[in-house]
Amino acid sequence: MEEKIKQLLTAIVHPETGQDIVTSGFIEHTAAAAGKVTVVLRFAKTRDPFALKIKKQAEELLQEAFPGSEVLVVIKEGGAAPRPEPKLKTTTGGIAHVIAVASGKGGVGKSTVTANLAVALRNMGYRVGILDADIYGPSQPKMFGVEGYLPEAVQEDGEDRIIPARSMEIELMSIGFFIKPTDALLWRGAMAVSALKQMIHQTRWGTLDFLLADLPPGTGDVHLSIIGELKIDAAVIVSTPQQVAVADVVRGVEMFRNEHVGIPVAGVIENMAWFTPAELPDNRYYLFGRGGARAMAEKSGVPFLGEIPIVQSIMEGSDAGCPAASTHPMVEKSYREIAEKVVEQVMKNGR
Ligand code: ADP
Repeated sequence: MEEKIKQLLTAIVHPETGQDIVTSGFIEHTAAAAGKVTVVLRFAKTRDPFALKIKKQAEELLQEAFPGSEVLVVIKEGGAAPRPEPKLKTTTGGIAHVIAVASGKGGVGKSTVTANLAVALRNMGYRVGILDADIYGPSQPKMFGVEGYLPEAVQEDGEDRIIPARSMEIELMSIGFFIKPTDALLWRGAMAVSALKQMIHQTRWGTLDFLLADLPPGTGDVHLSIIGELKIDAAVIVSTPQQVAVADVVRGVEMFRNEHVGIPVAGVIENMAWFTPAELPDNRYYLFGRGGARAMAEKSGVPFLGEIPIVQSIMEGSDAGCPAASTHPMVEKSYREIAEKVVEQVMKNGR
């Protein structure tokens, strides 16, 4: 219900920032019970000139969505809403660093990069887990050859725990284990979020140096829910060189940097940066332009972590359940260099 309220409120845009009030972190509290819907909006500025207009819009929207209910929208001013306390729990140890992997749009290779980065970190001797939270297209099970895995639930110290899959010494929990591909549409929104919460808090990860969270593409409500549940130490943004994608990347960076979110961006990775045909190994074809992500990273003041070319074995490795960073020397090297930079940034920003 509270998710539904938030979803409704994403329709309201603050005229000054151009962003919806949910993404901007204006919603301090929502509640719905006994015929009463309550929303507390917190405006960072005192006397925000748009506060009353937004309150009215919220009241109208909620009244329409919950006919017969009493709707109460309260305005609070000044000071940022306190960031919710992270609630990450593990029973058998702990997670040292959580890294979110995000992208402005789908299809840029975010999941492929997550899988290969995980393998590169494992090759460096780190204990690694992947939380596949991409509710729109969970692809980690396929990339690690564990499709169809059925997570077992066990009771430990009176608490329910879910056992992750394990492949190439990497612990893997995916929303894909809980939904059929044909279900995906139904699961978006509130149901997906509650399943994600369960995955975040009940998976028996054990001791990990790095947990990589493969986020859904884009920026929105589901992202904010995940960010609120998971103590993310740093975000890595994946982009392709196309201009459109690069423009979306800026939104991705801004989502993490938002004053209410405050997650350091470890940097930007440019995927599918160029193409080299097997028969002309010294030629690089920059099919979608060159250097866009690097320039964007510089402009936004975030590190540029490196670039990955279009390589057939990257795609084949994903399909075969064996990420190319474990088999292909050139891909292994590219990812090792990127992984080293990621580790450096995460340690530097250590929260
Ligand atoms: P996303 O998670 O951003 O939606 P995916 O990781 O699923 O994207 O990648 C989309 C497709 O592109 C997949 O078929 C994947 O194998 C392929 N792909 C990703 N990166 C590369 C690359 N560097 N070279 C070749 N194919 C790639």
